[in-house]
Amino acid sequence: MIFVYSPLHARHDGGKELYRGEFVPTFETPARVGHIQAALQAGGFEQAPPREFPESRLHRVHDPDFVEFLRTAFARWHAEGREGCMLPSGFPARGLRRDRKPAGISGSMGYYAFDASTPIMEGTWDAALAAAHSAMTAAAMVSEGKSAVYALCRPPGHHASRSVYGGYCYLNNAALAVQYLIDESYGRIALLDIDYHHGNGSQEIFWERDDVLFVSLHGTPDSEYPYFLGYADERGAGRGAGYTLNLPLPLGTGWDSYASALDVALEAIRGYAPDALVVSLGVDTFERDPISGFKLATRHYPLIGSRLAGLGLPTVLVQEGGYAVAEIGANVAGVLGAFAARPA
Ligand SMILES: [Zn+2]
Repeated sequence: MIFVYSPLHARHDGGKELYRGEFVPTFETPARVGHIQAALQAGGFEQAPPREFPESRLHRVHDPDFVEFLRTAFARWHAEGREGCMLPSGFPARGLRRDRKPAGISGSMGYYAFDASTPIMEGTWDAALAAAHSAMTAAAMVSEGKSAVYALCRPPGHHASRSVYGGYCYLNNAALAVQYLIDESYGRIALLDIDYHHGNGSQEIFWERDDVLFVSLHGTPDSEYPYFLGYADERGAGRGAGYTLNLPLPLGTGWDSYASALDVALEAIRGYAPDALVVSLGVDTFERDPISGFKLATRHYPLIGSRLAGLGLPTVLVQEGGYAVAEIGANVAGVLGAFAARPA
């Protein structure tokens, strides 16, 4: 089985975030990728570089002005004589104007971001673009006939919406893979998000679409990030009414309850009868993840993988979260094992 990898991810490094009242080094680090890459190489997976794609591919999912902001943000910050990492400190909450984008870089950051945990640094754009290209490369390989391809994306993507970044995410890699599959080969795609955190960006992007079924299992937003989306009563709108399914689970959820919810998700996907599957693969559902609250163990990830592979669909798997760095490789390889065992 092929995994798509770019060394450019490492250019996004050294950031800080505001986490529960403290300014700390970001949990989303380059070391995560090294552990996954090592586990996959040890497991006999074949590494491939990402292909290049025109920026118009990004505009299929993201607003052009948002892409332009991400591409130029650090240079604008640097031009003001600043170094280090960029974090916003003011947001257009209720009662403030959202129709006017401030001209200055500080106001622009608040306009395009939804939290203060997602730093932009000198190499962030290069890394985010390489991750987006990795996801689209995996989608291209699947539309050309591969059974399953994994994109080792970093930074992750599922919190990024059409024109807002946050949650360590800048470009929505999984959504770009979904759109690529639709543009090139397939009519209907199921996007299954099994990261611990709700994929608010993916939900927003496909909210009014009936050619994408978005299904997410995640920690309840009543207590867990991203707090303001991911509730069970969100089902889509317009043509997309009924094509969003959220399965929020309580803090402390262990394997039995998780597996039951996963079965509900898979049943919904079977009912939709998609042509292909995209998986937002977060392993921050792991019991020792530092910023999450489920209780899955390393032995459970192969069980998840066999259930997903059992759908029998062409599949693109896209890396999202997972912050227990020492175990992240084993957990990701655990999910991918069942796909690697299928005929290529
Ligand atoms: Zn997550």
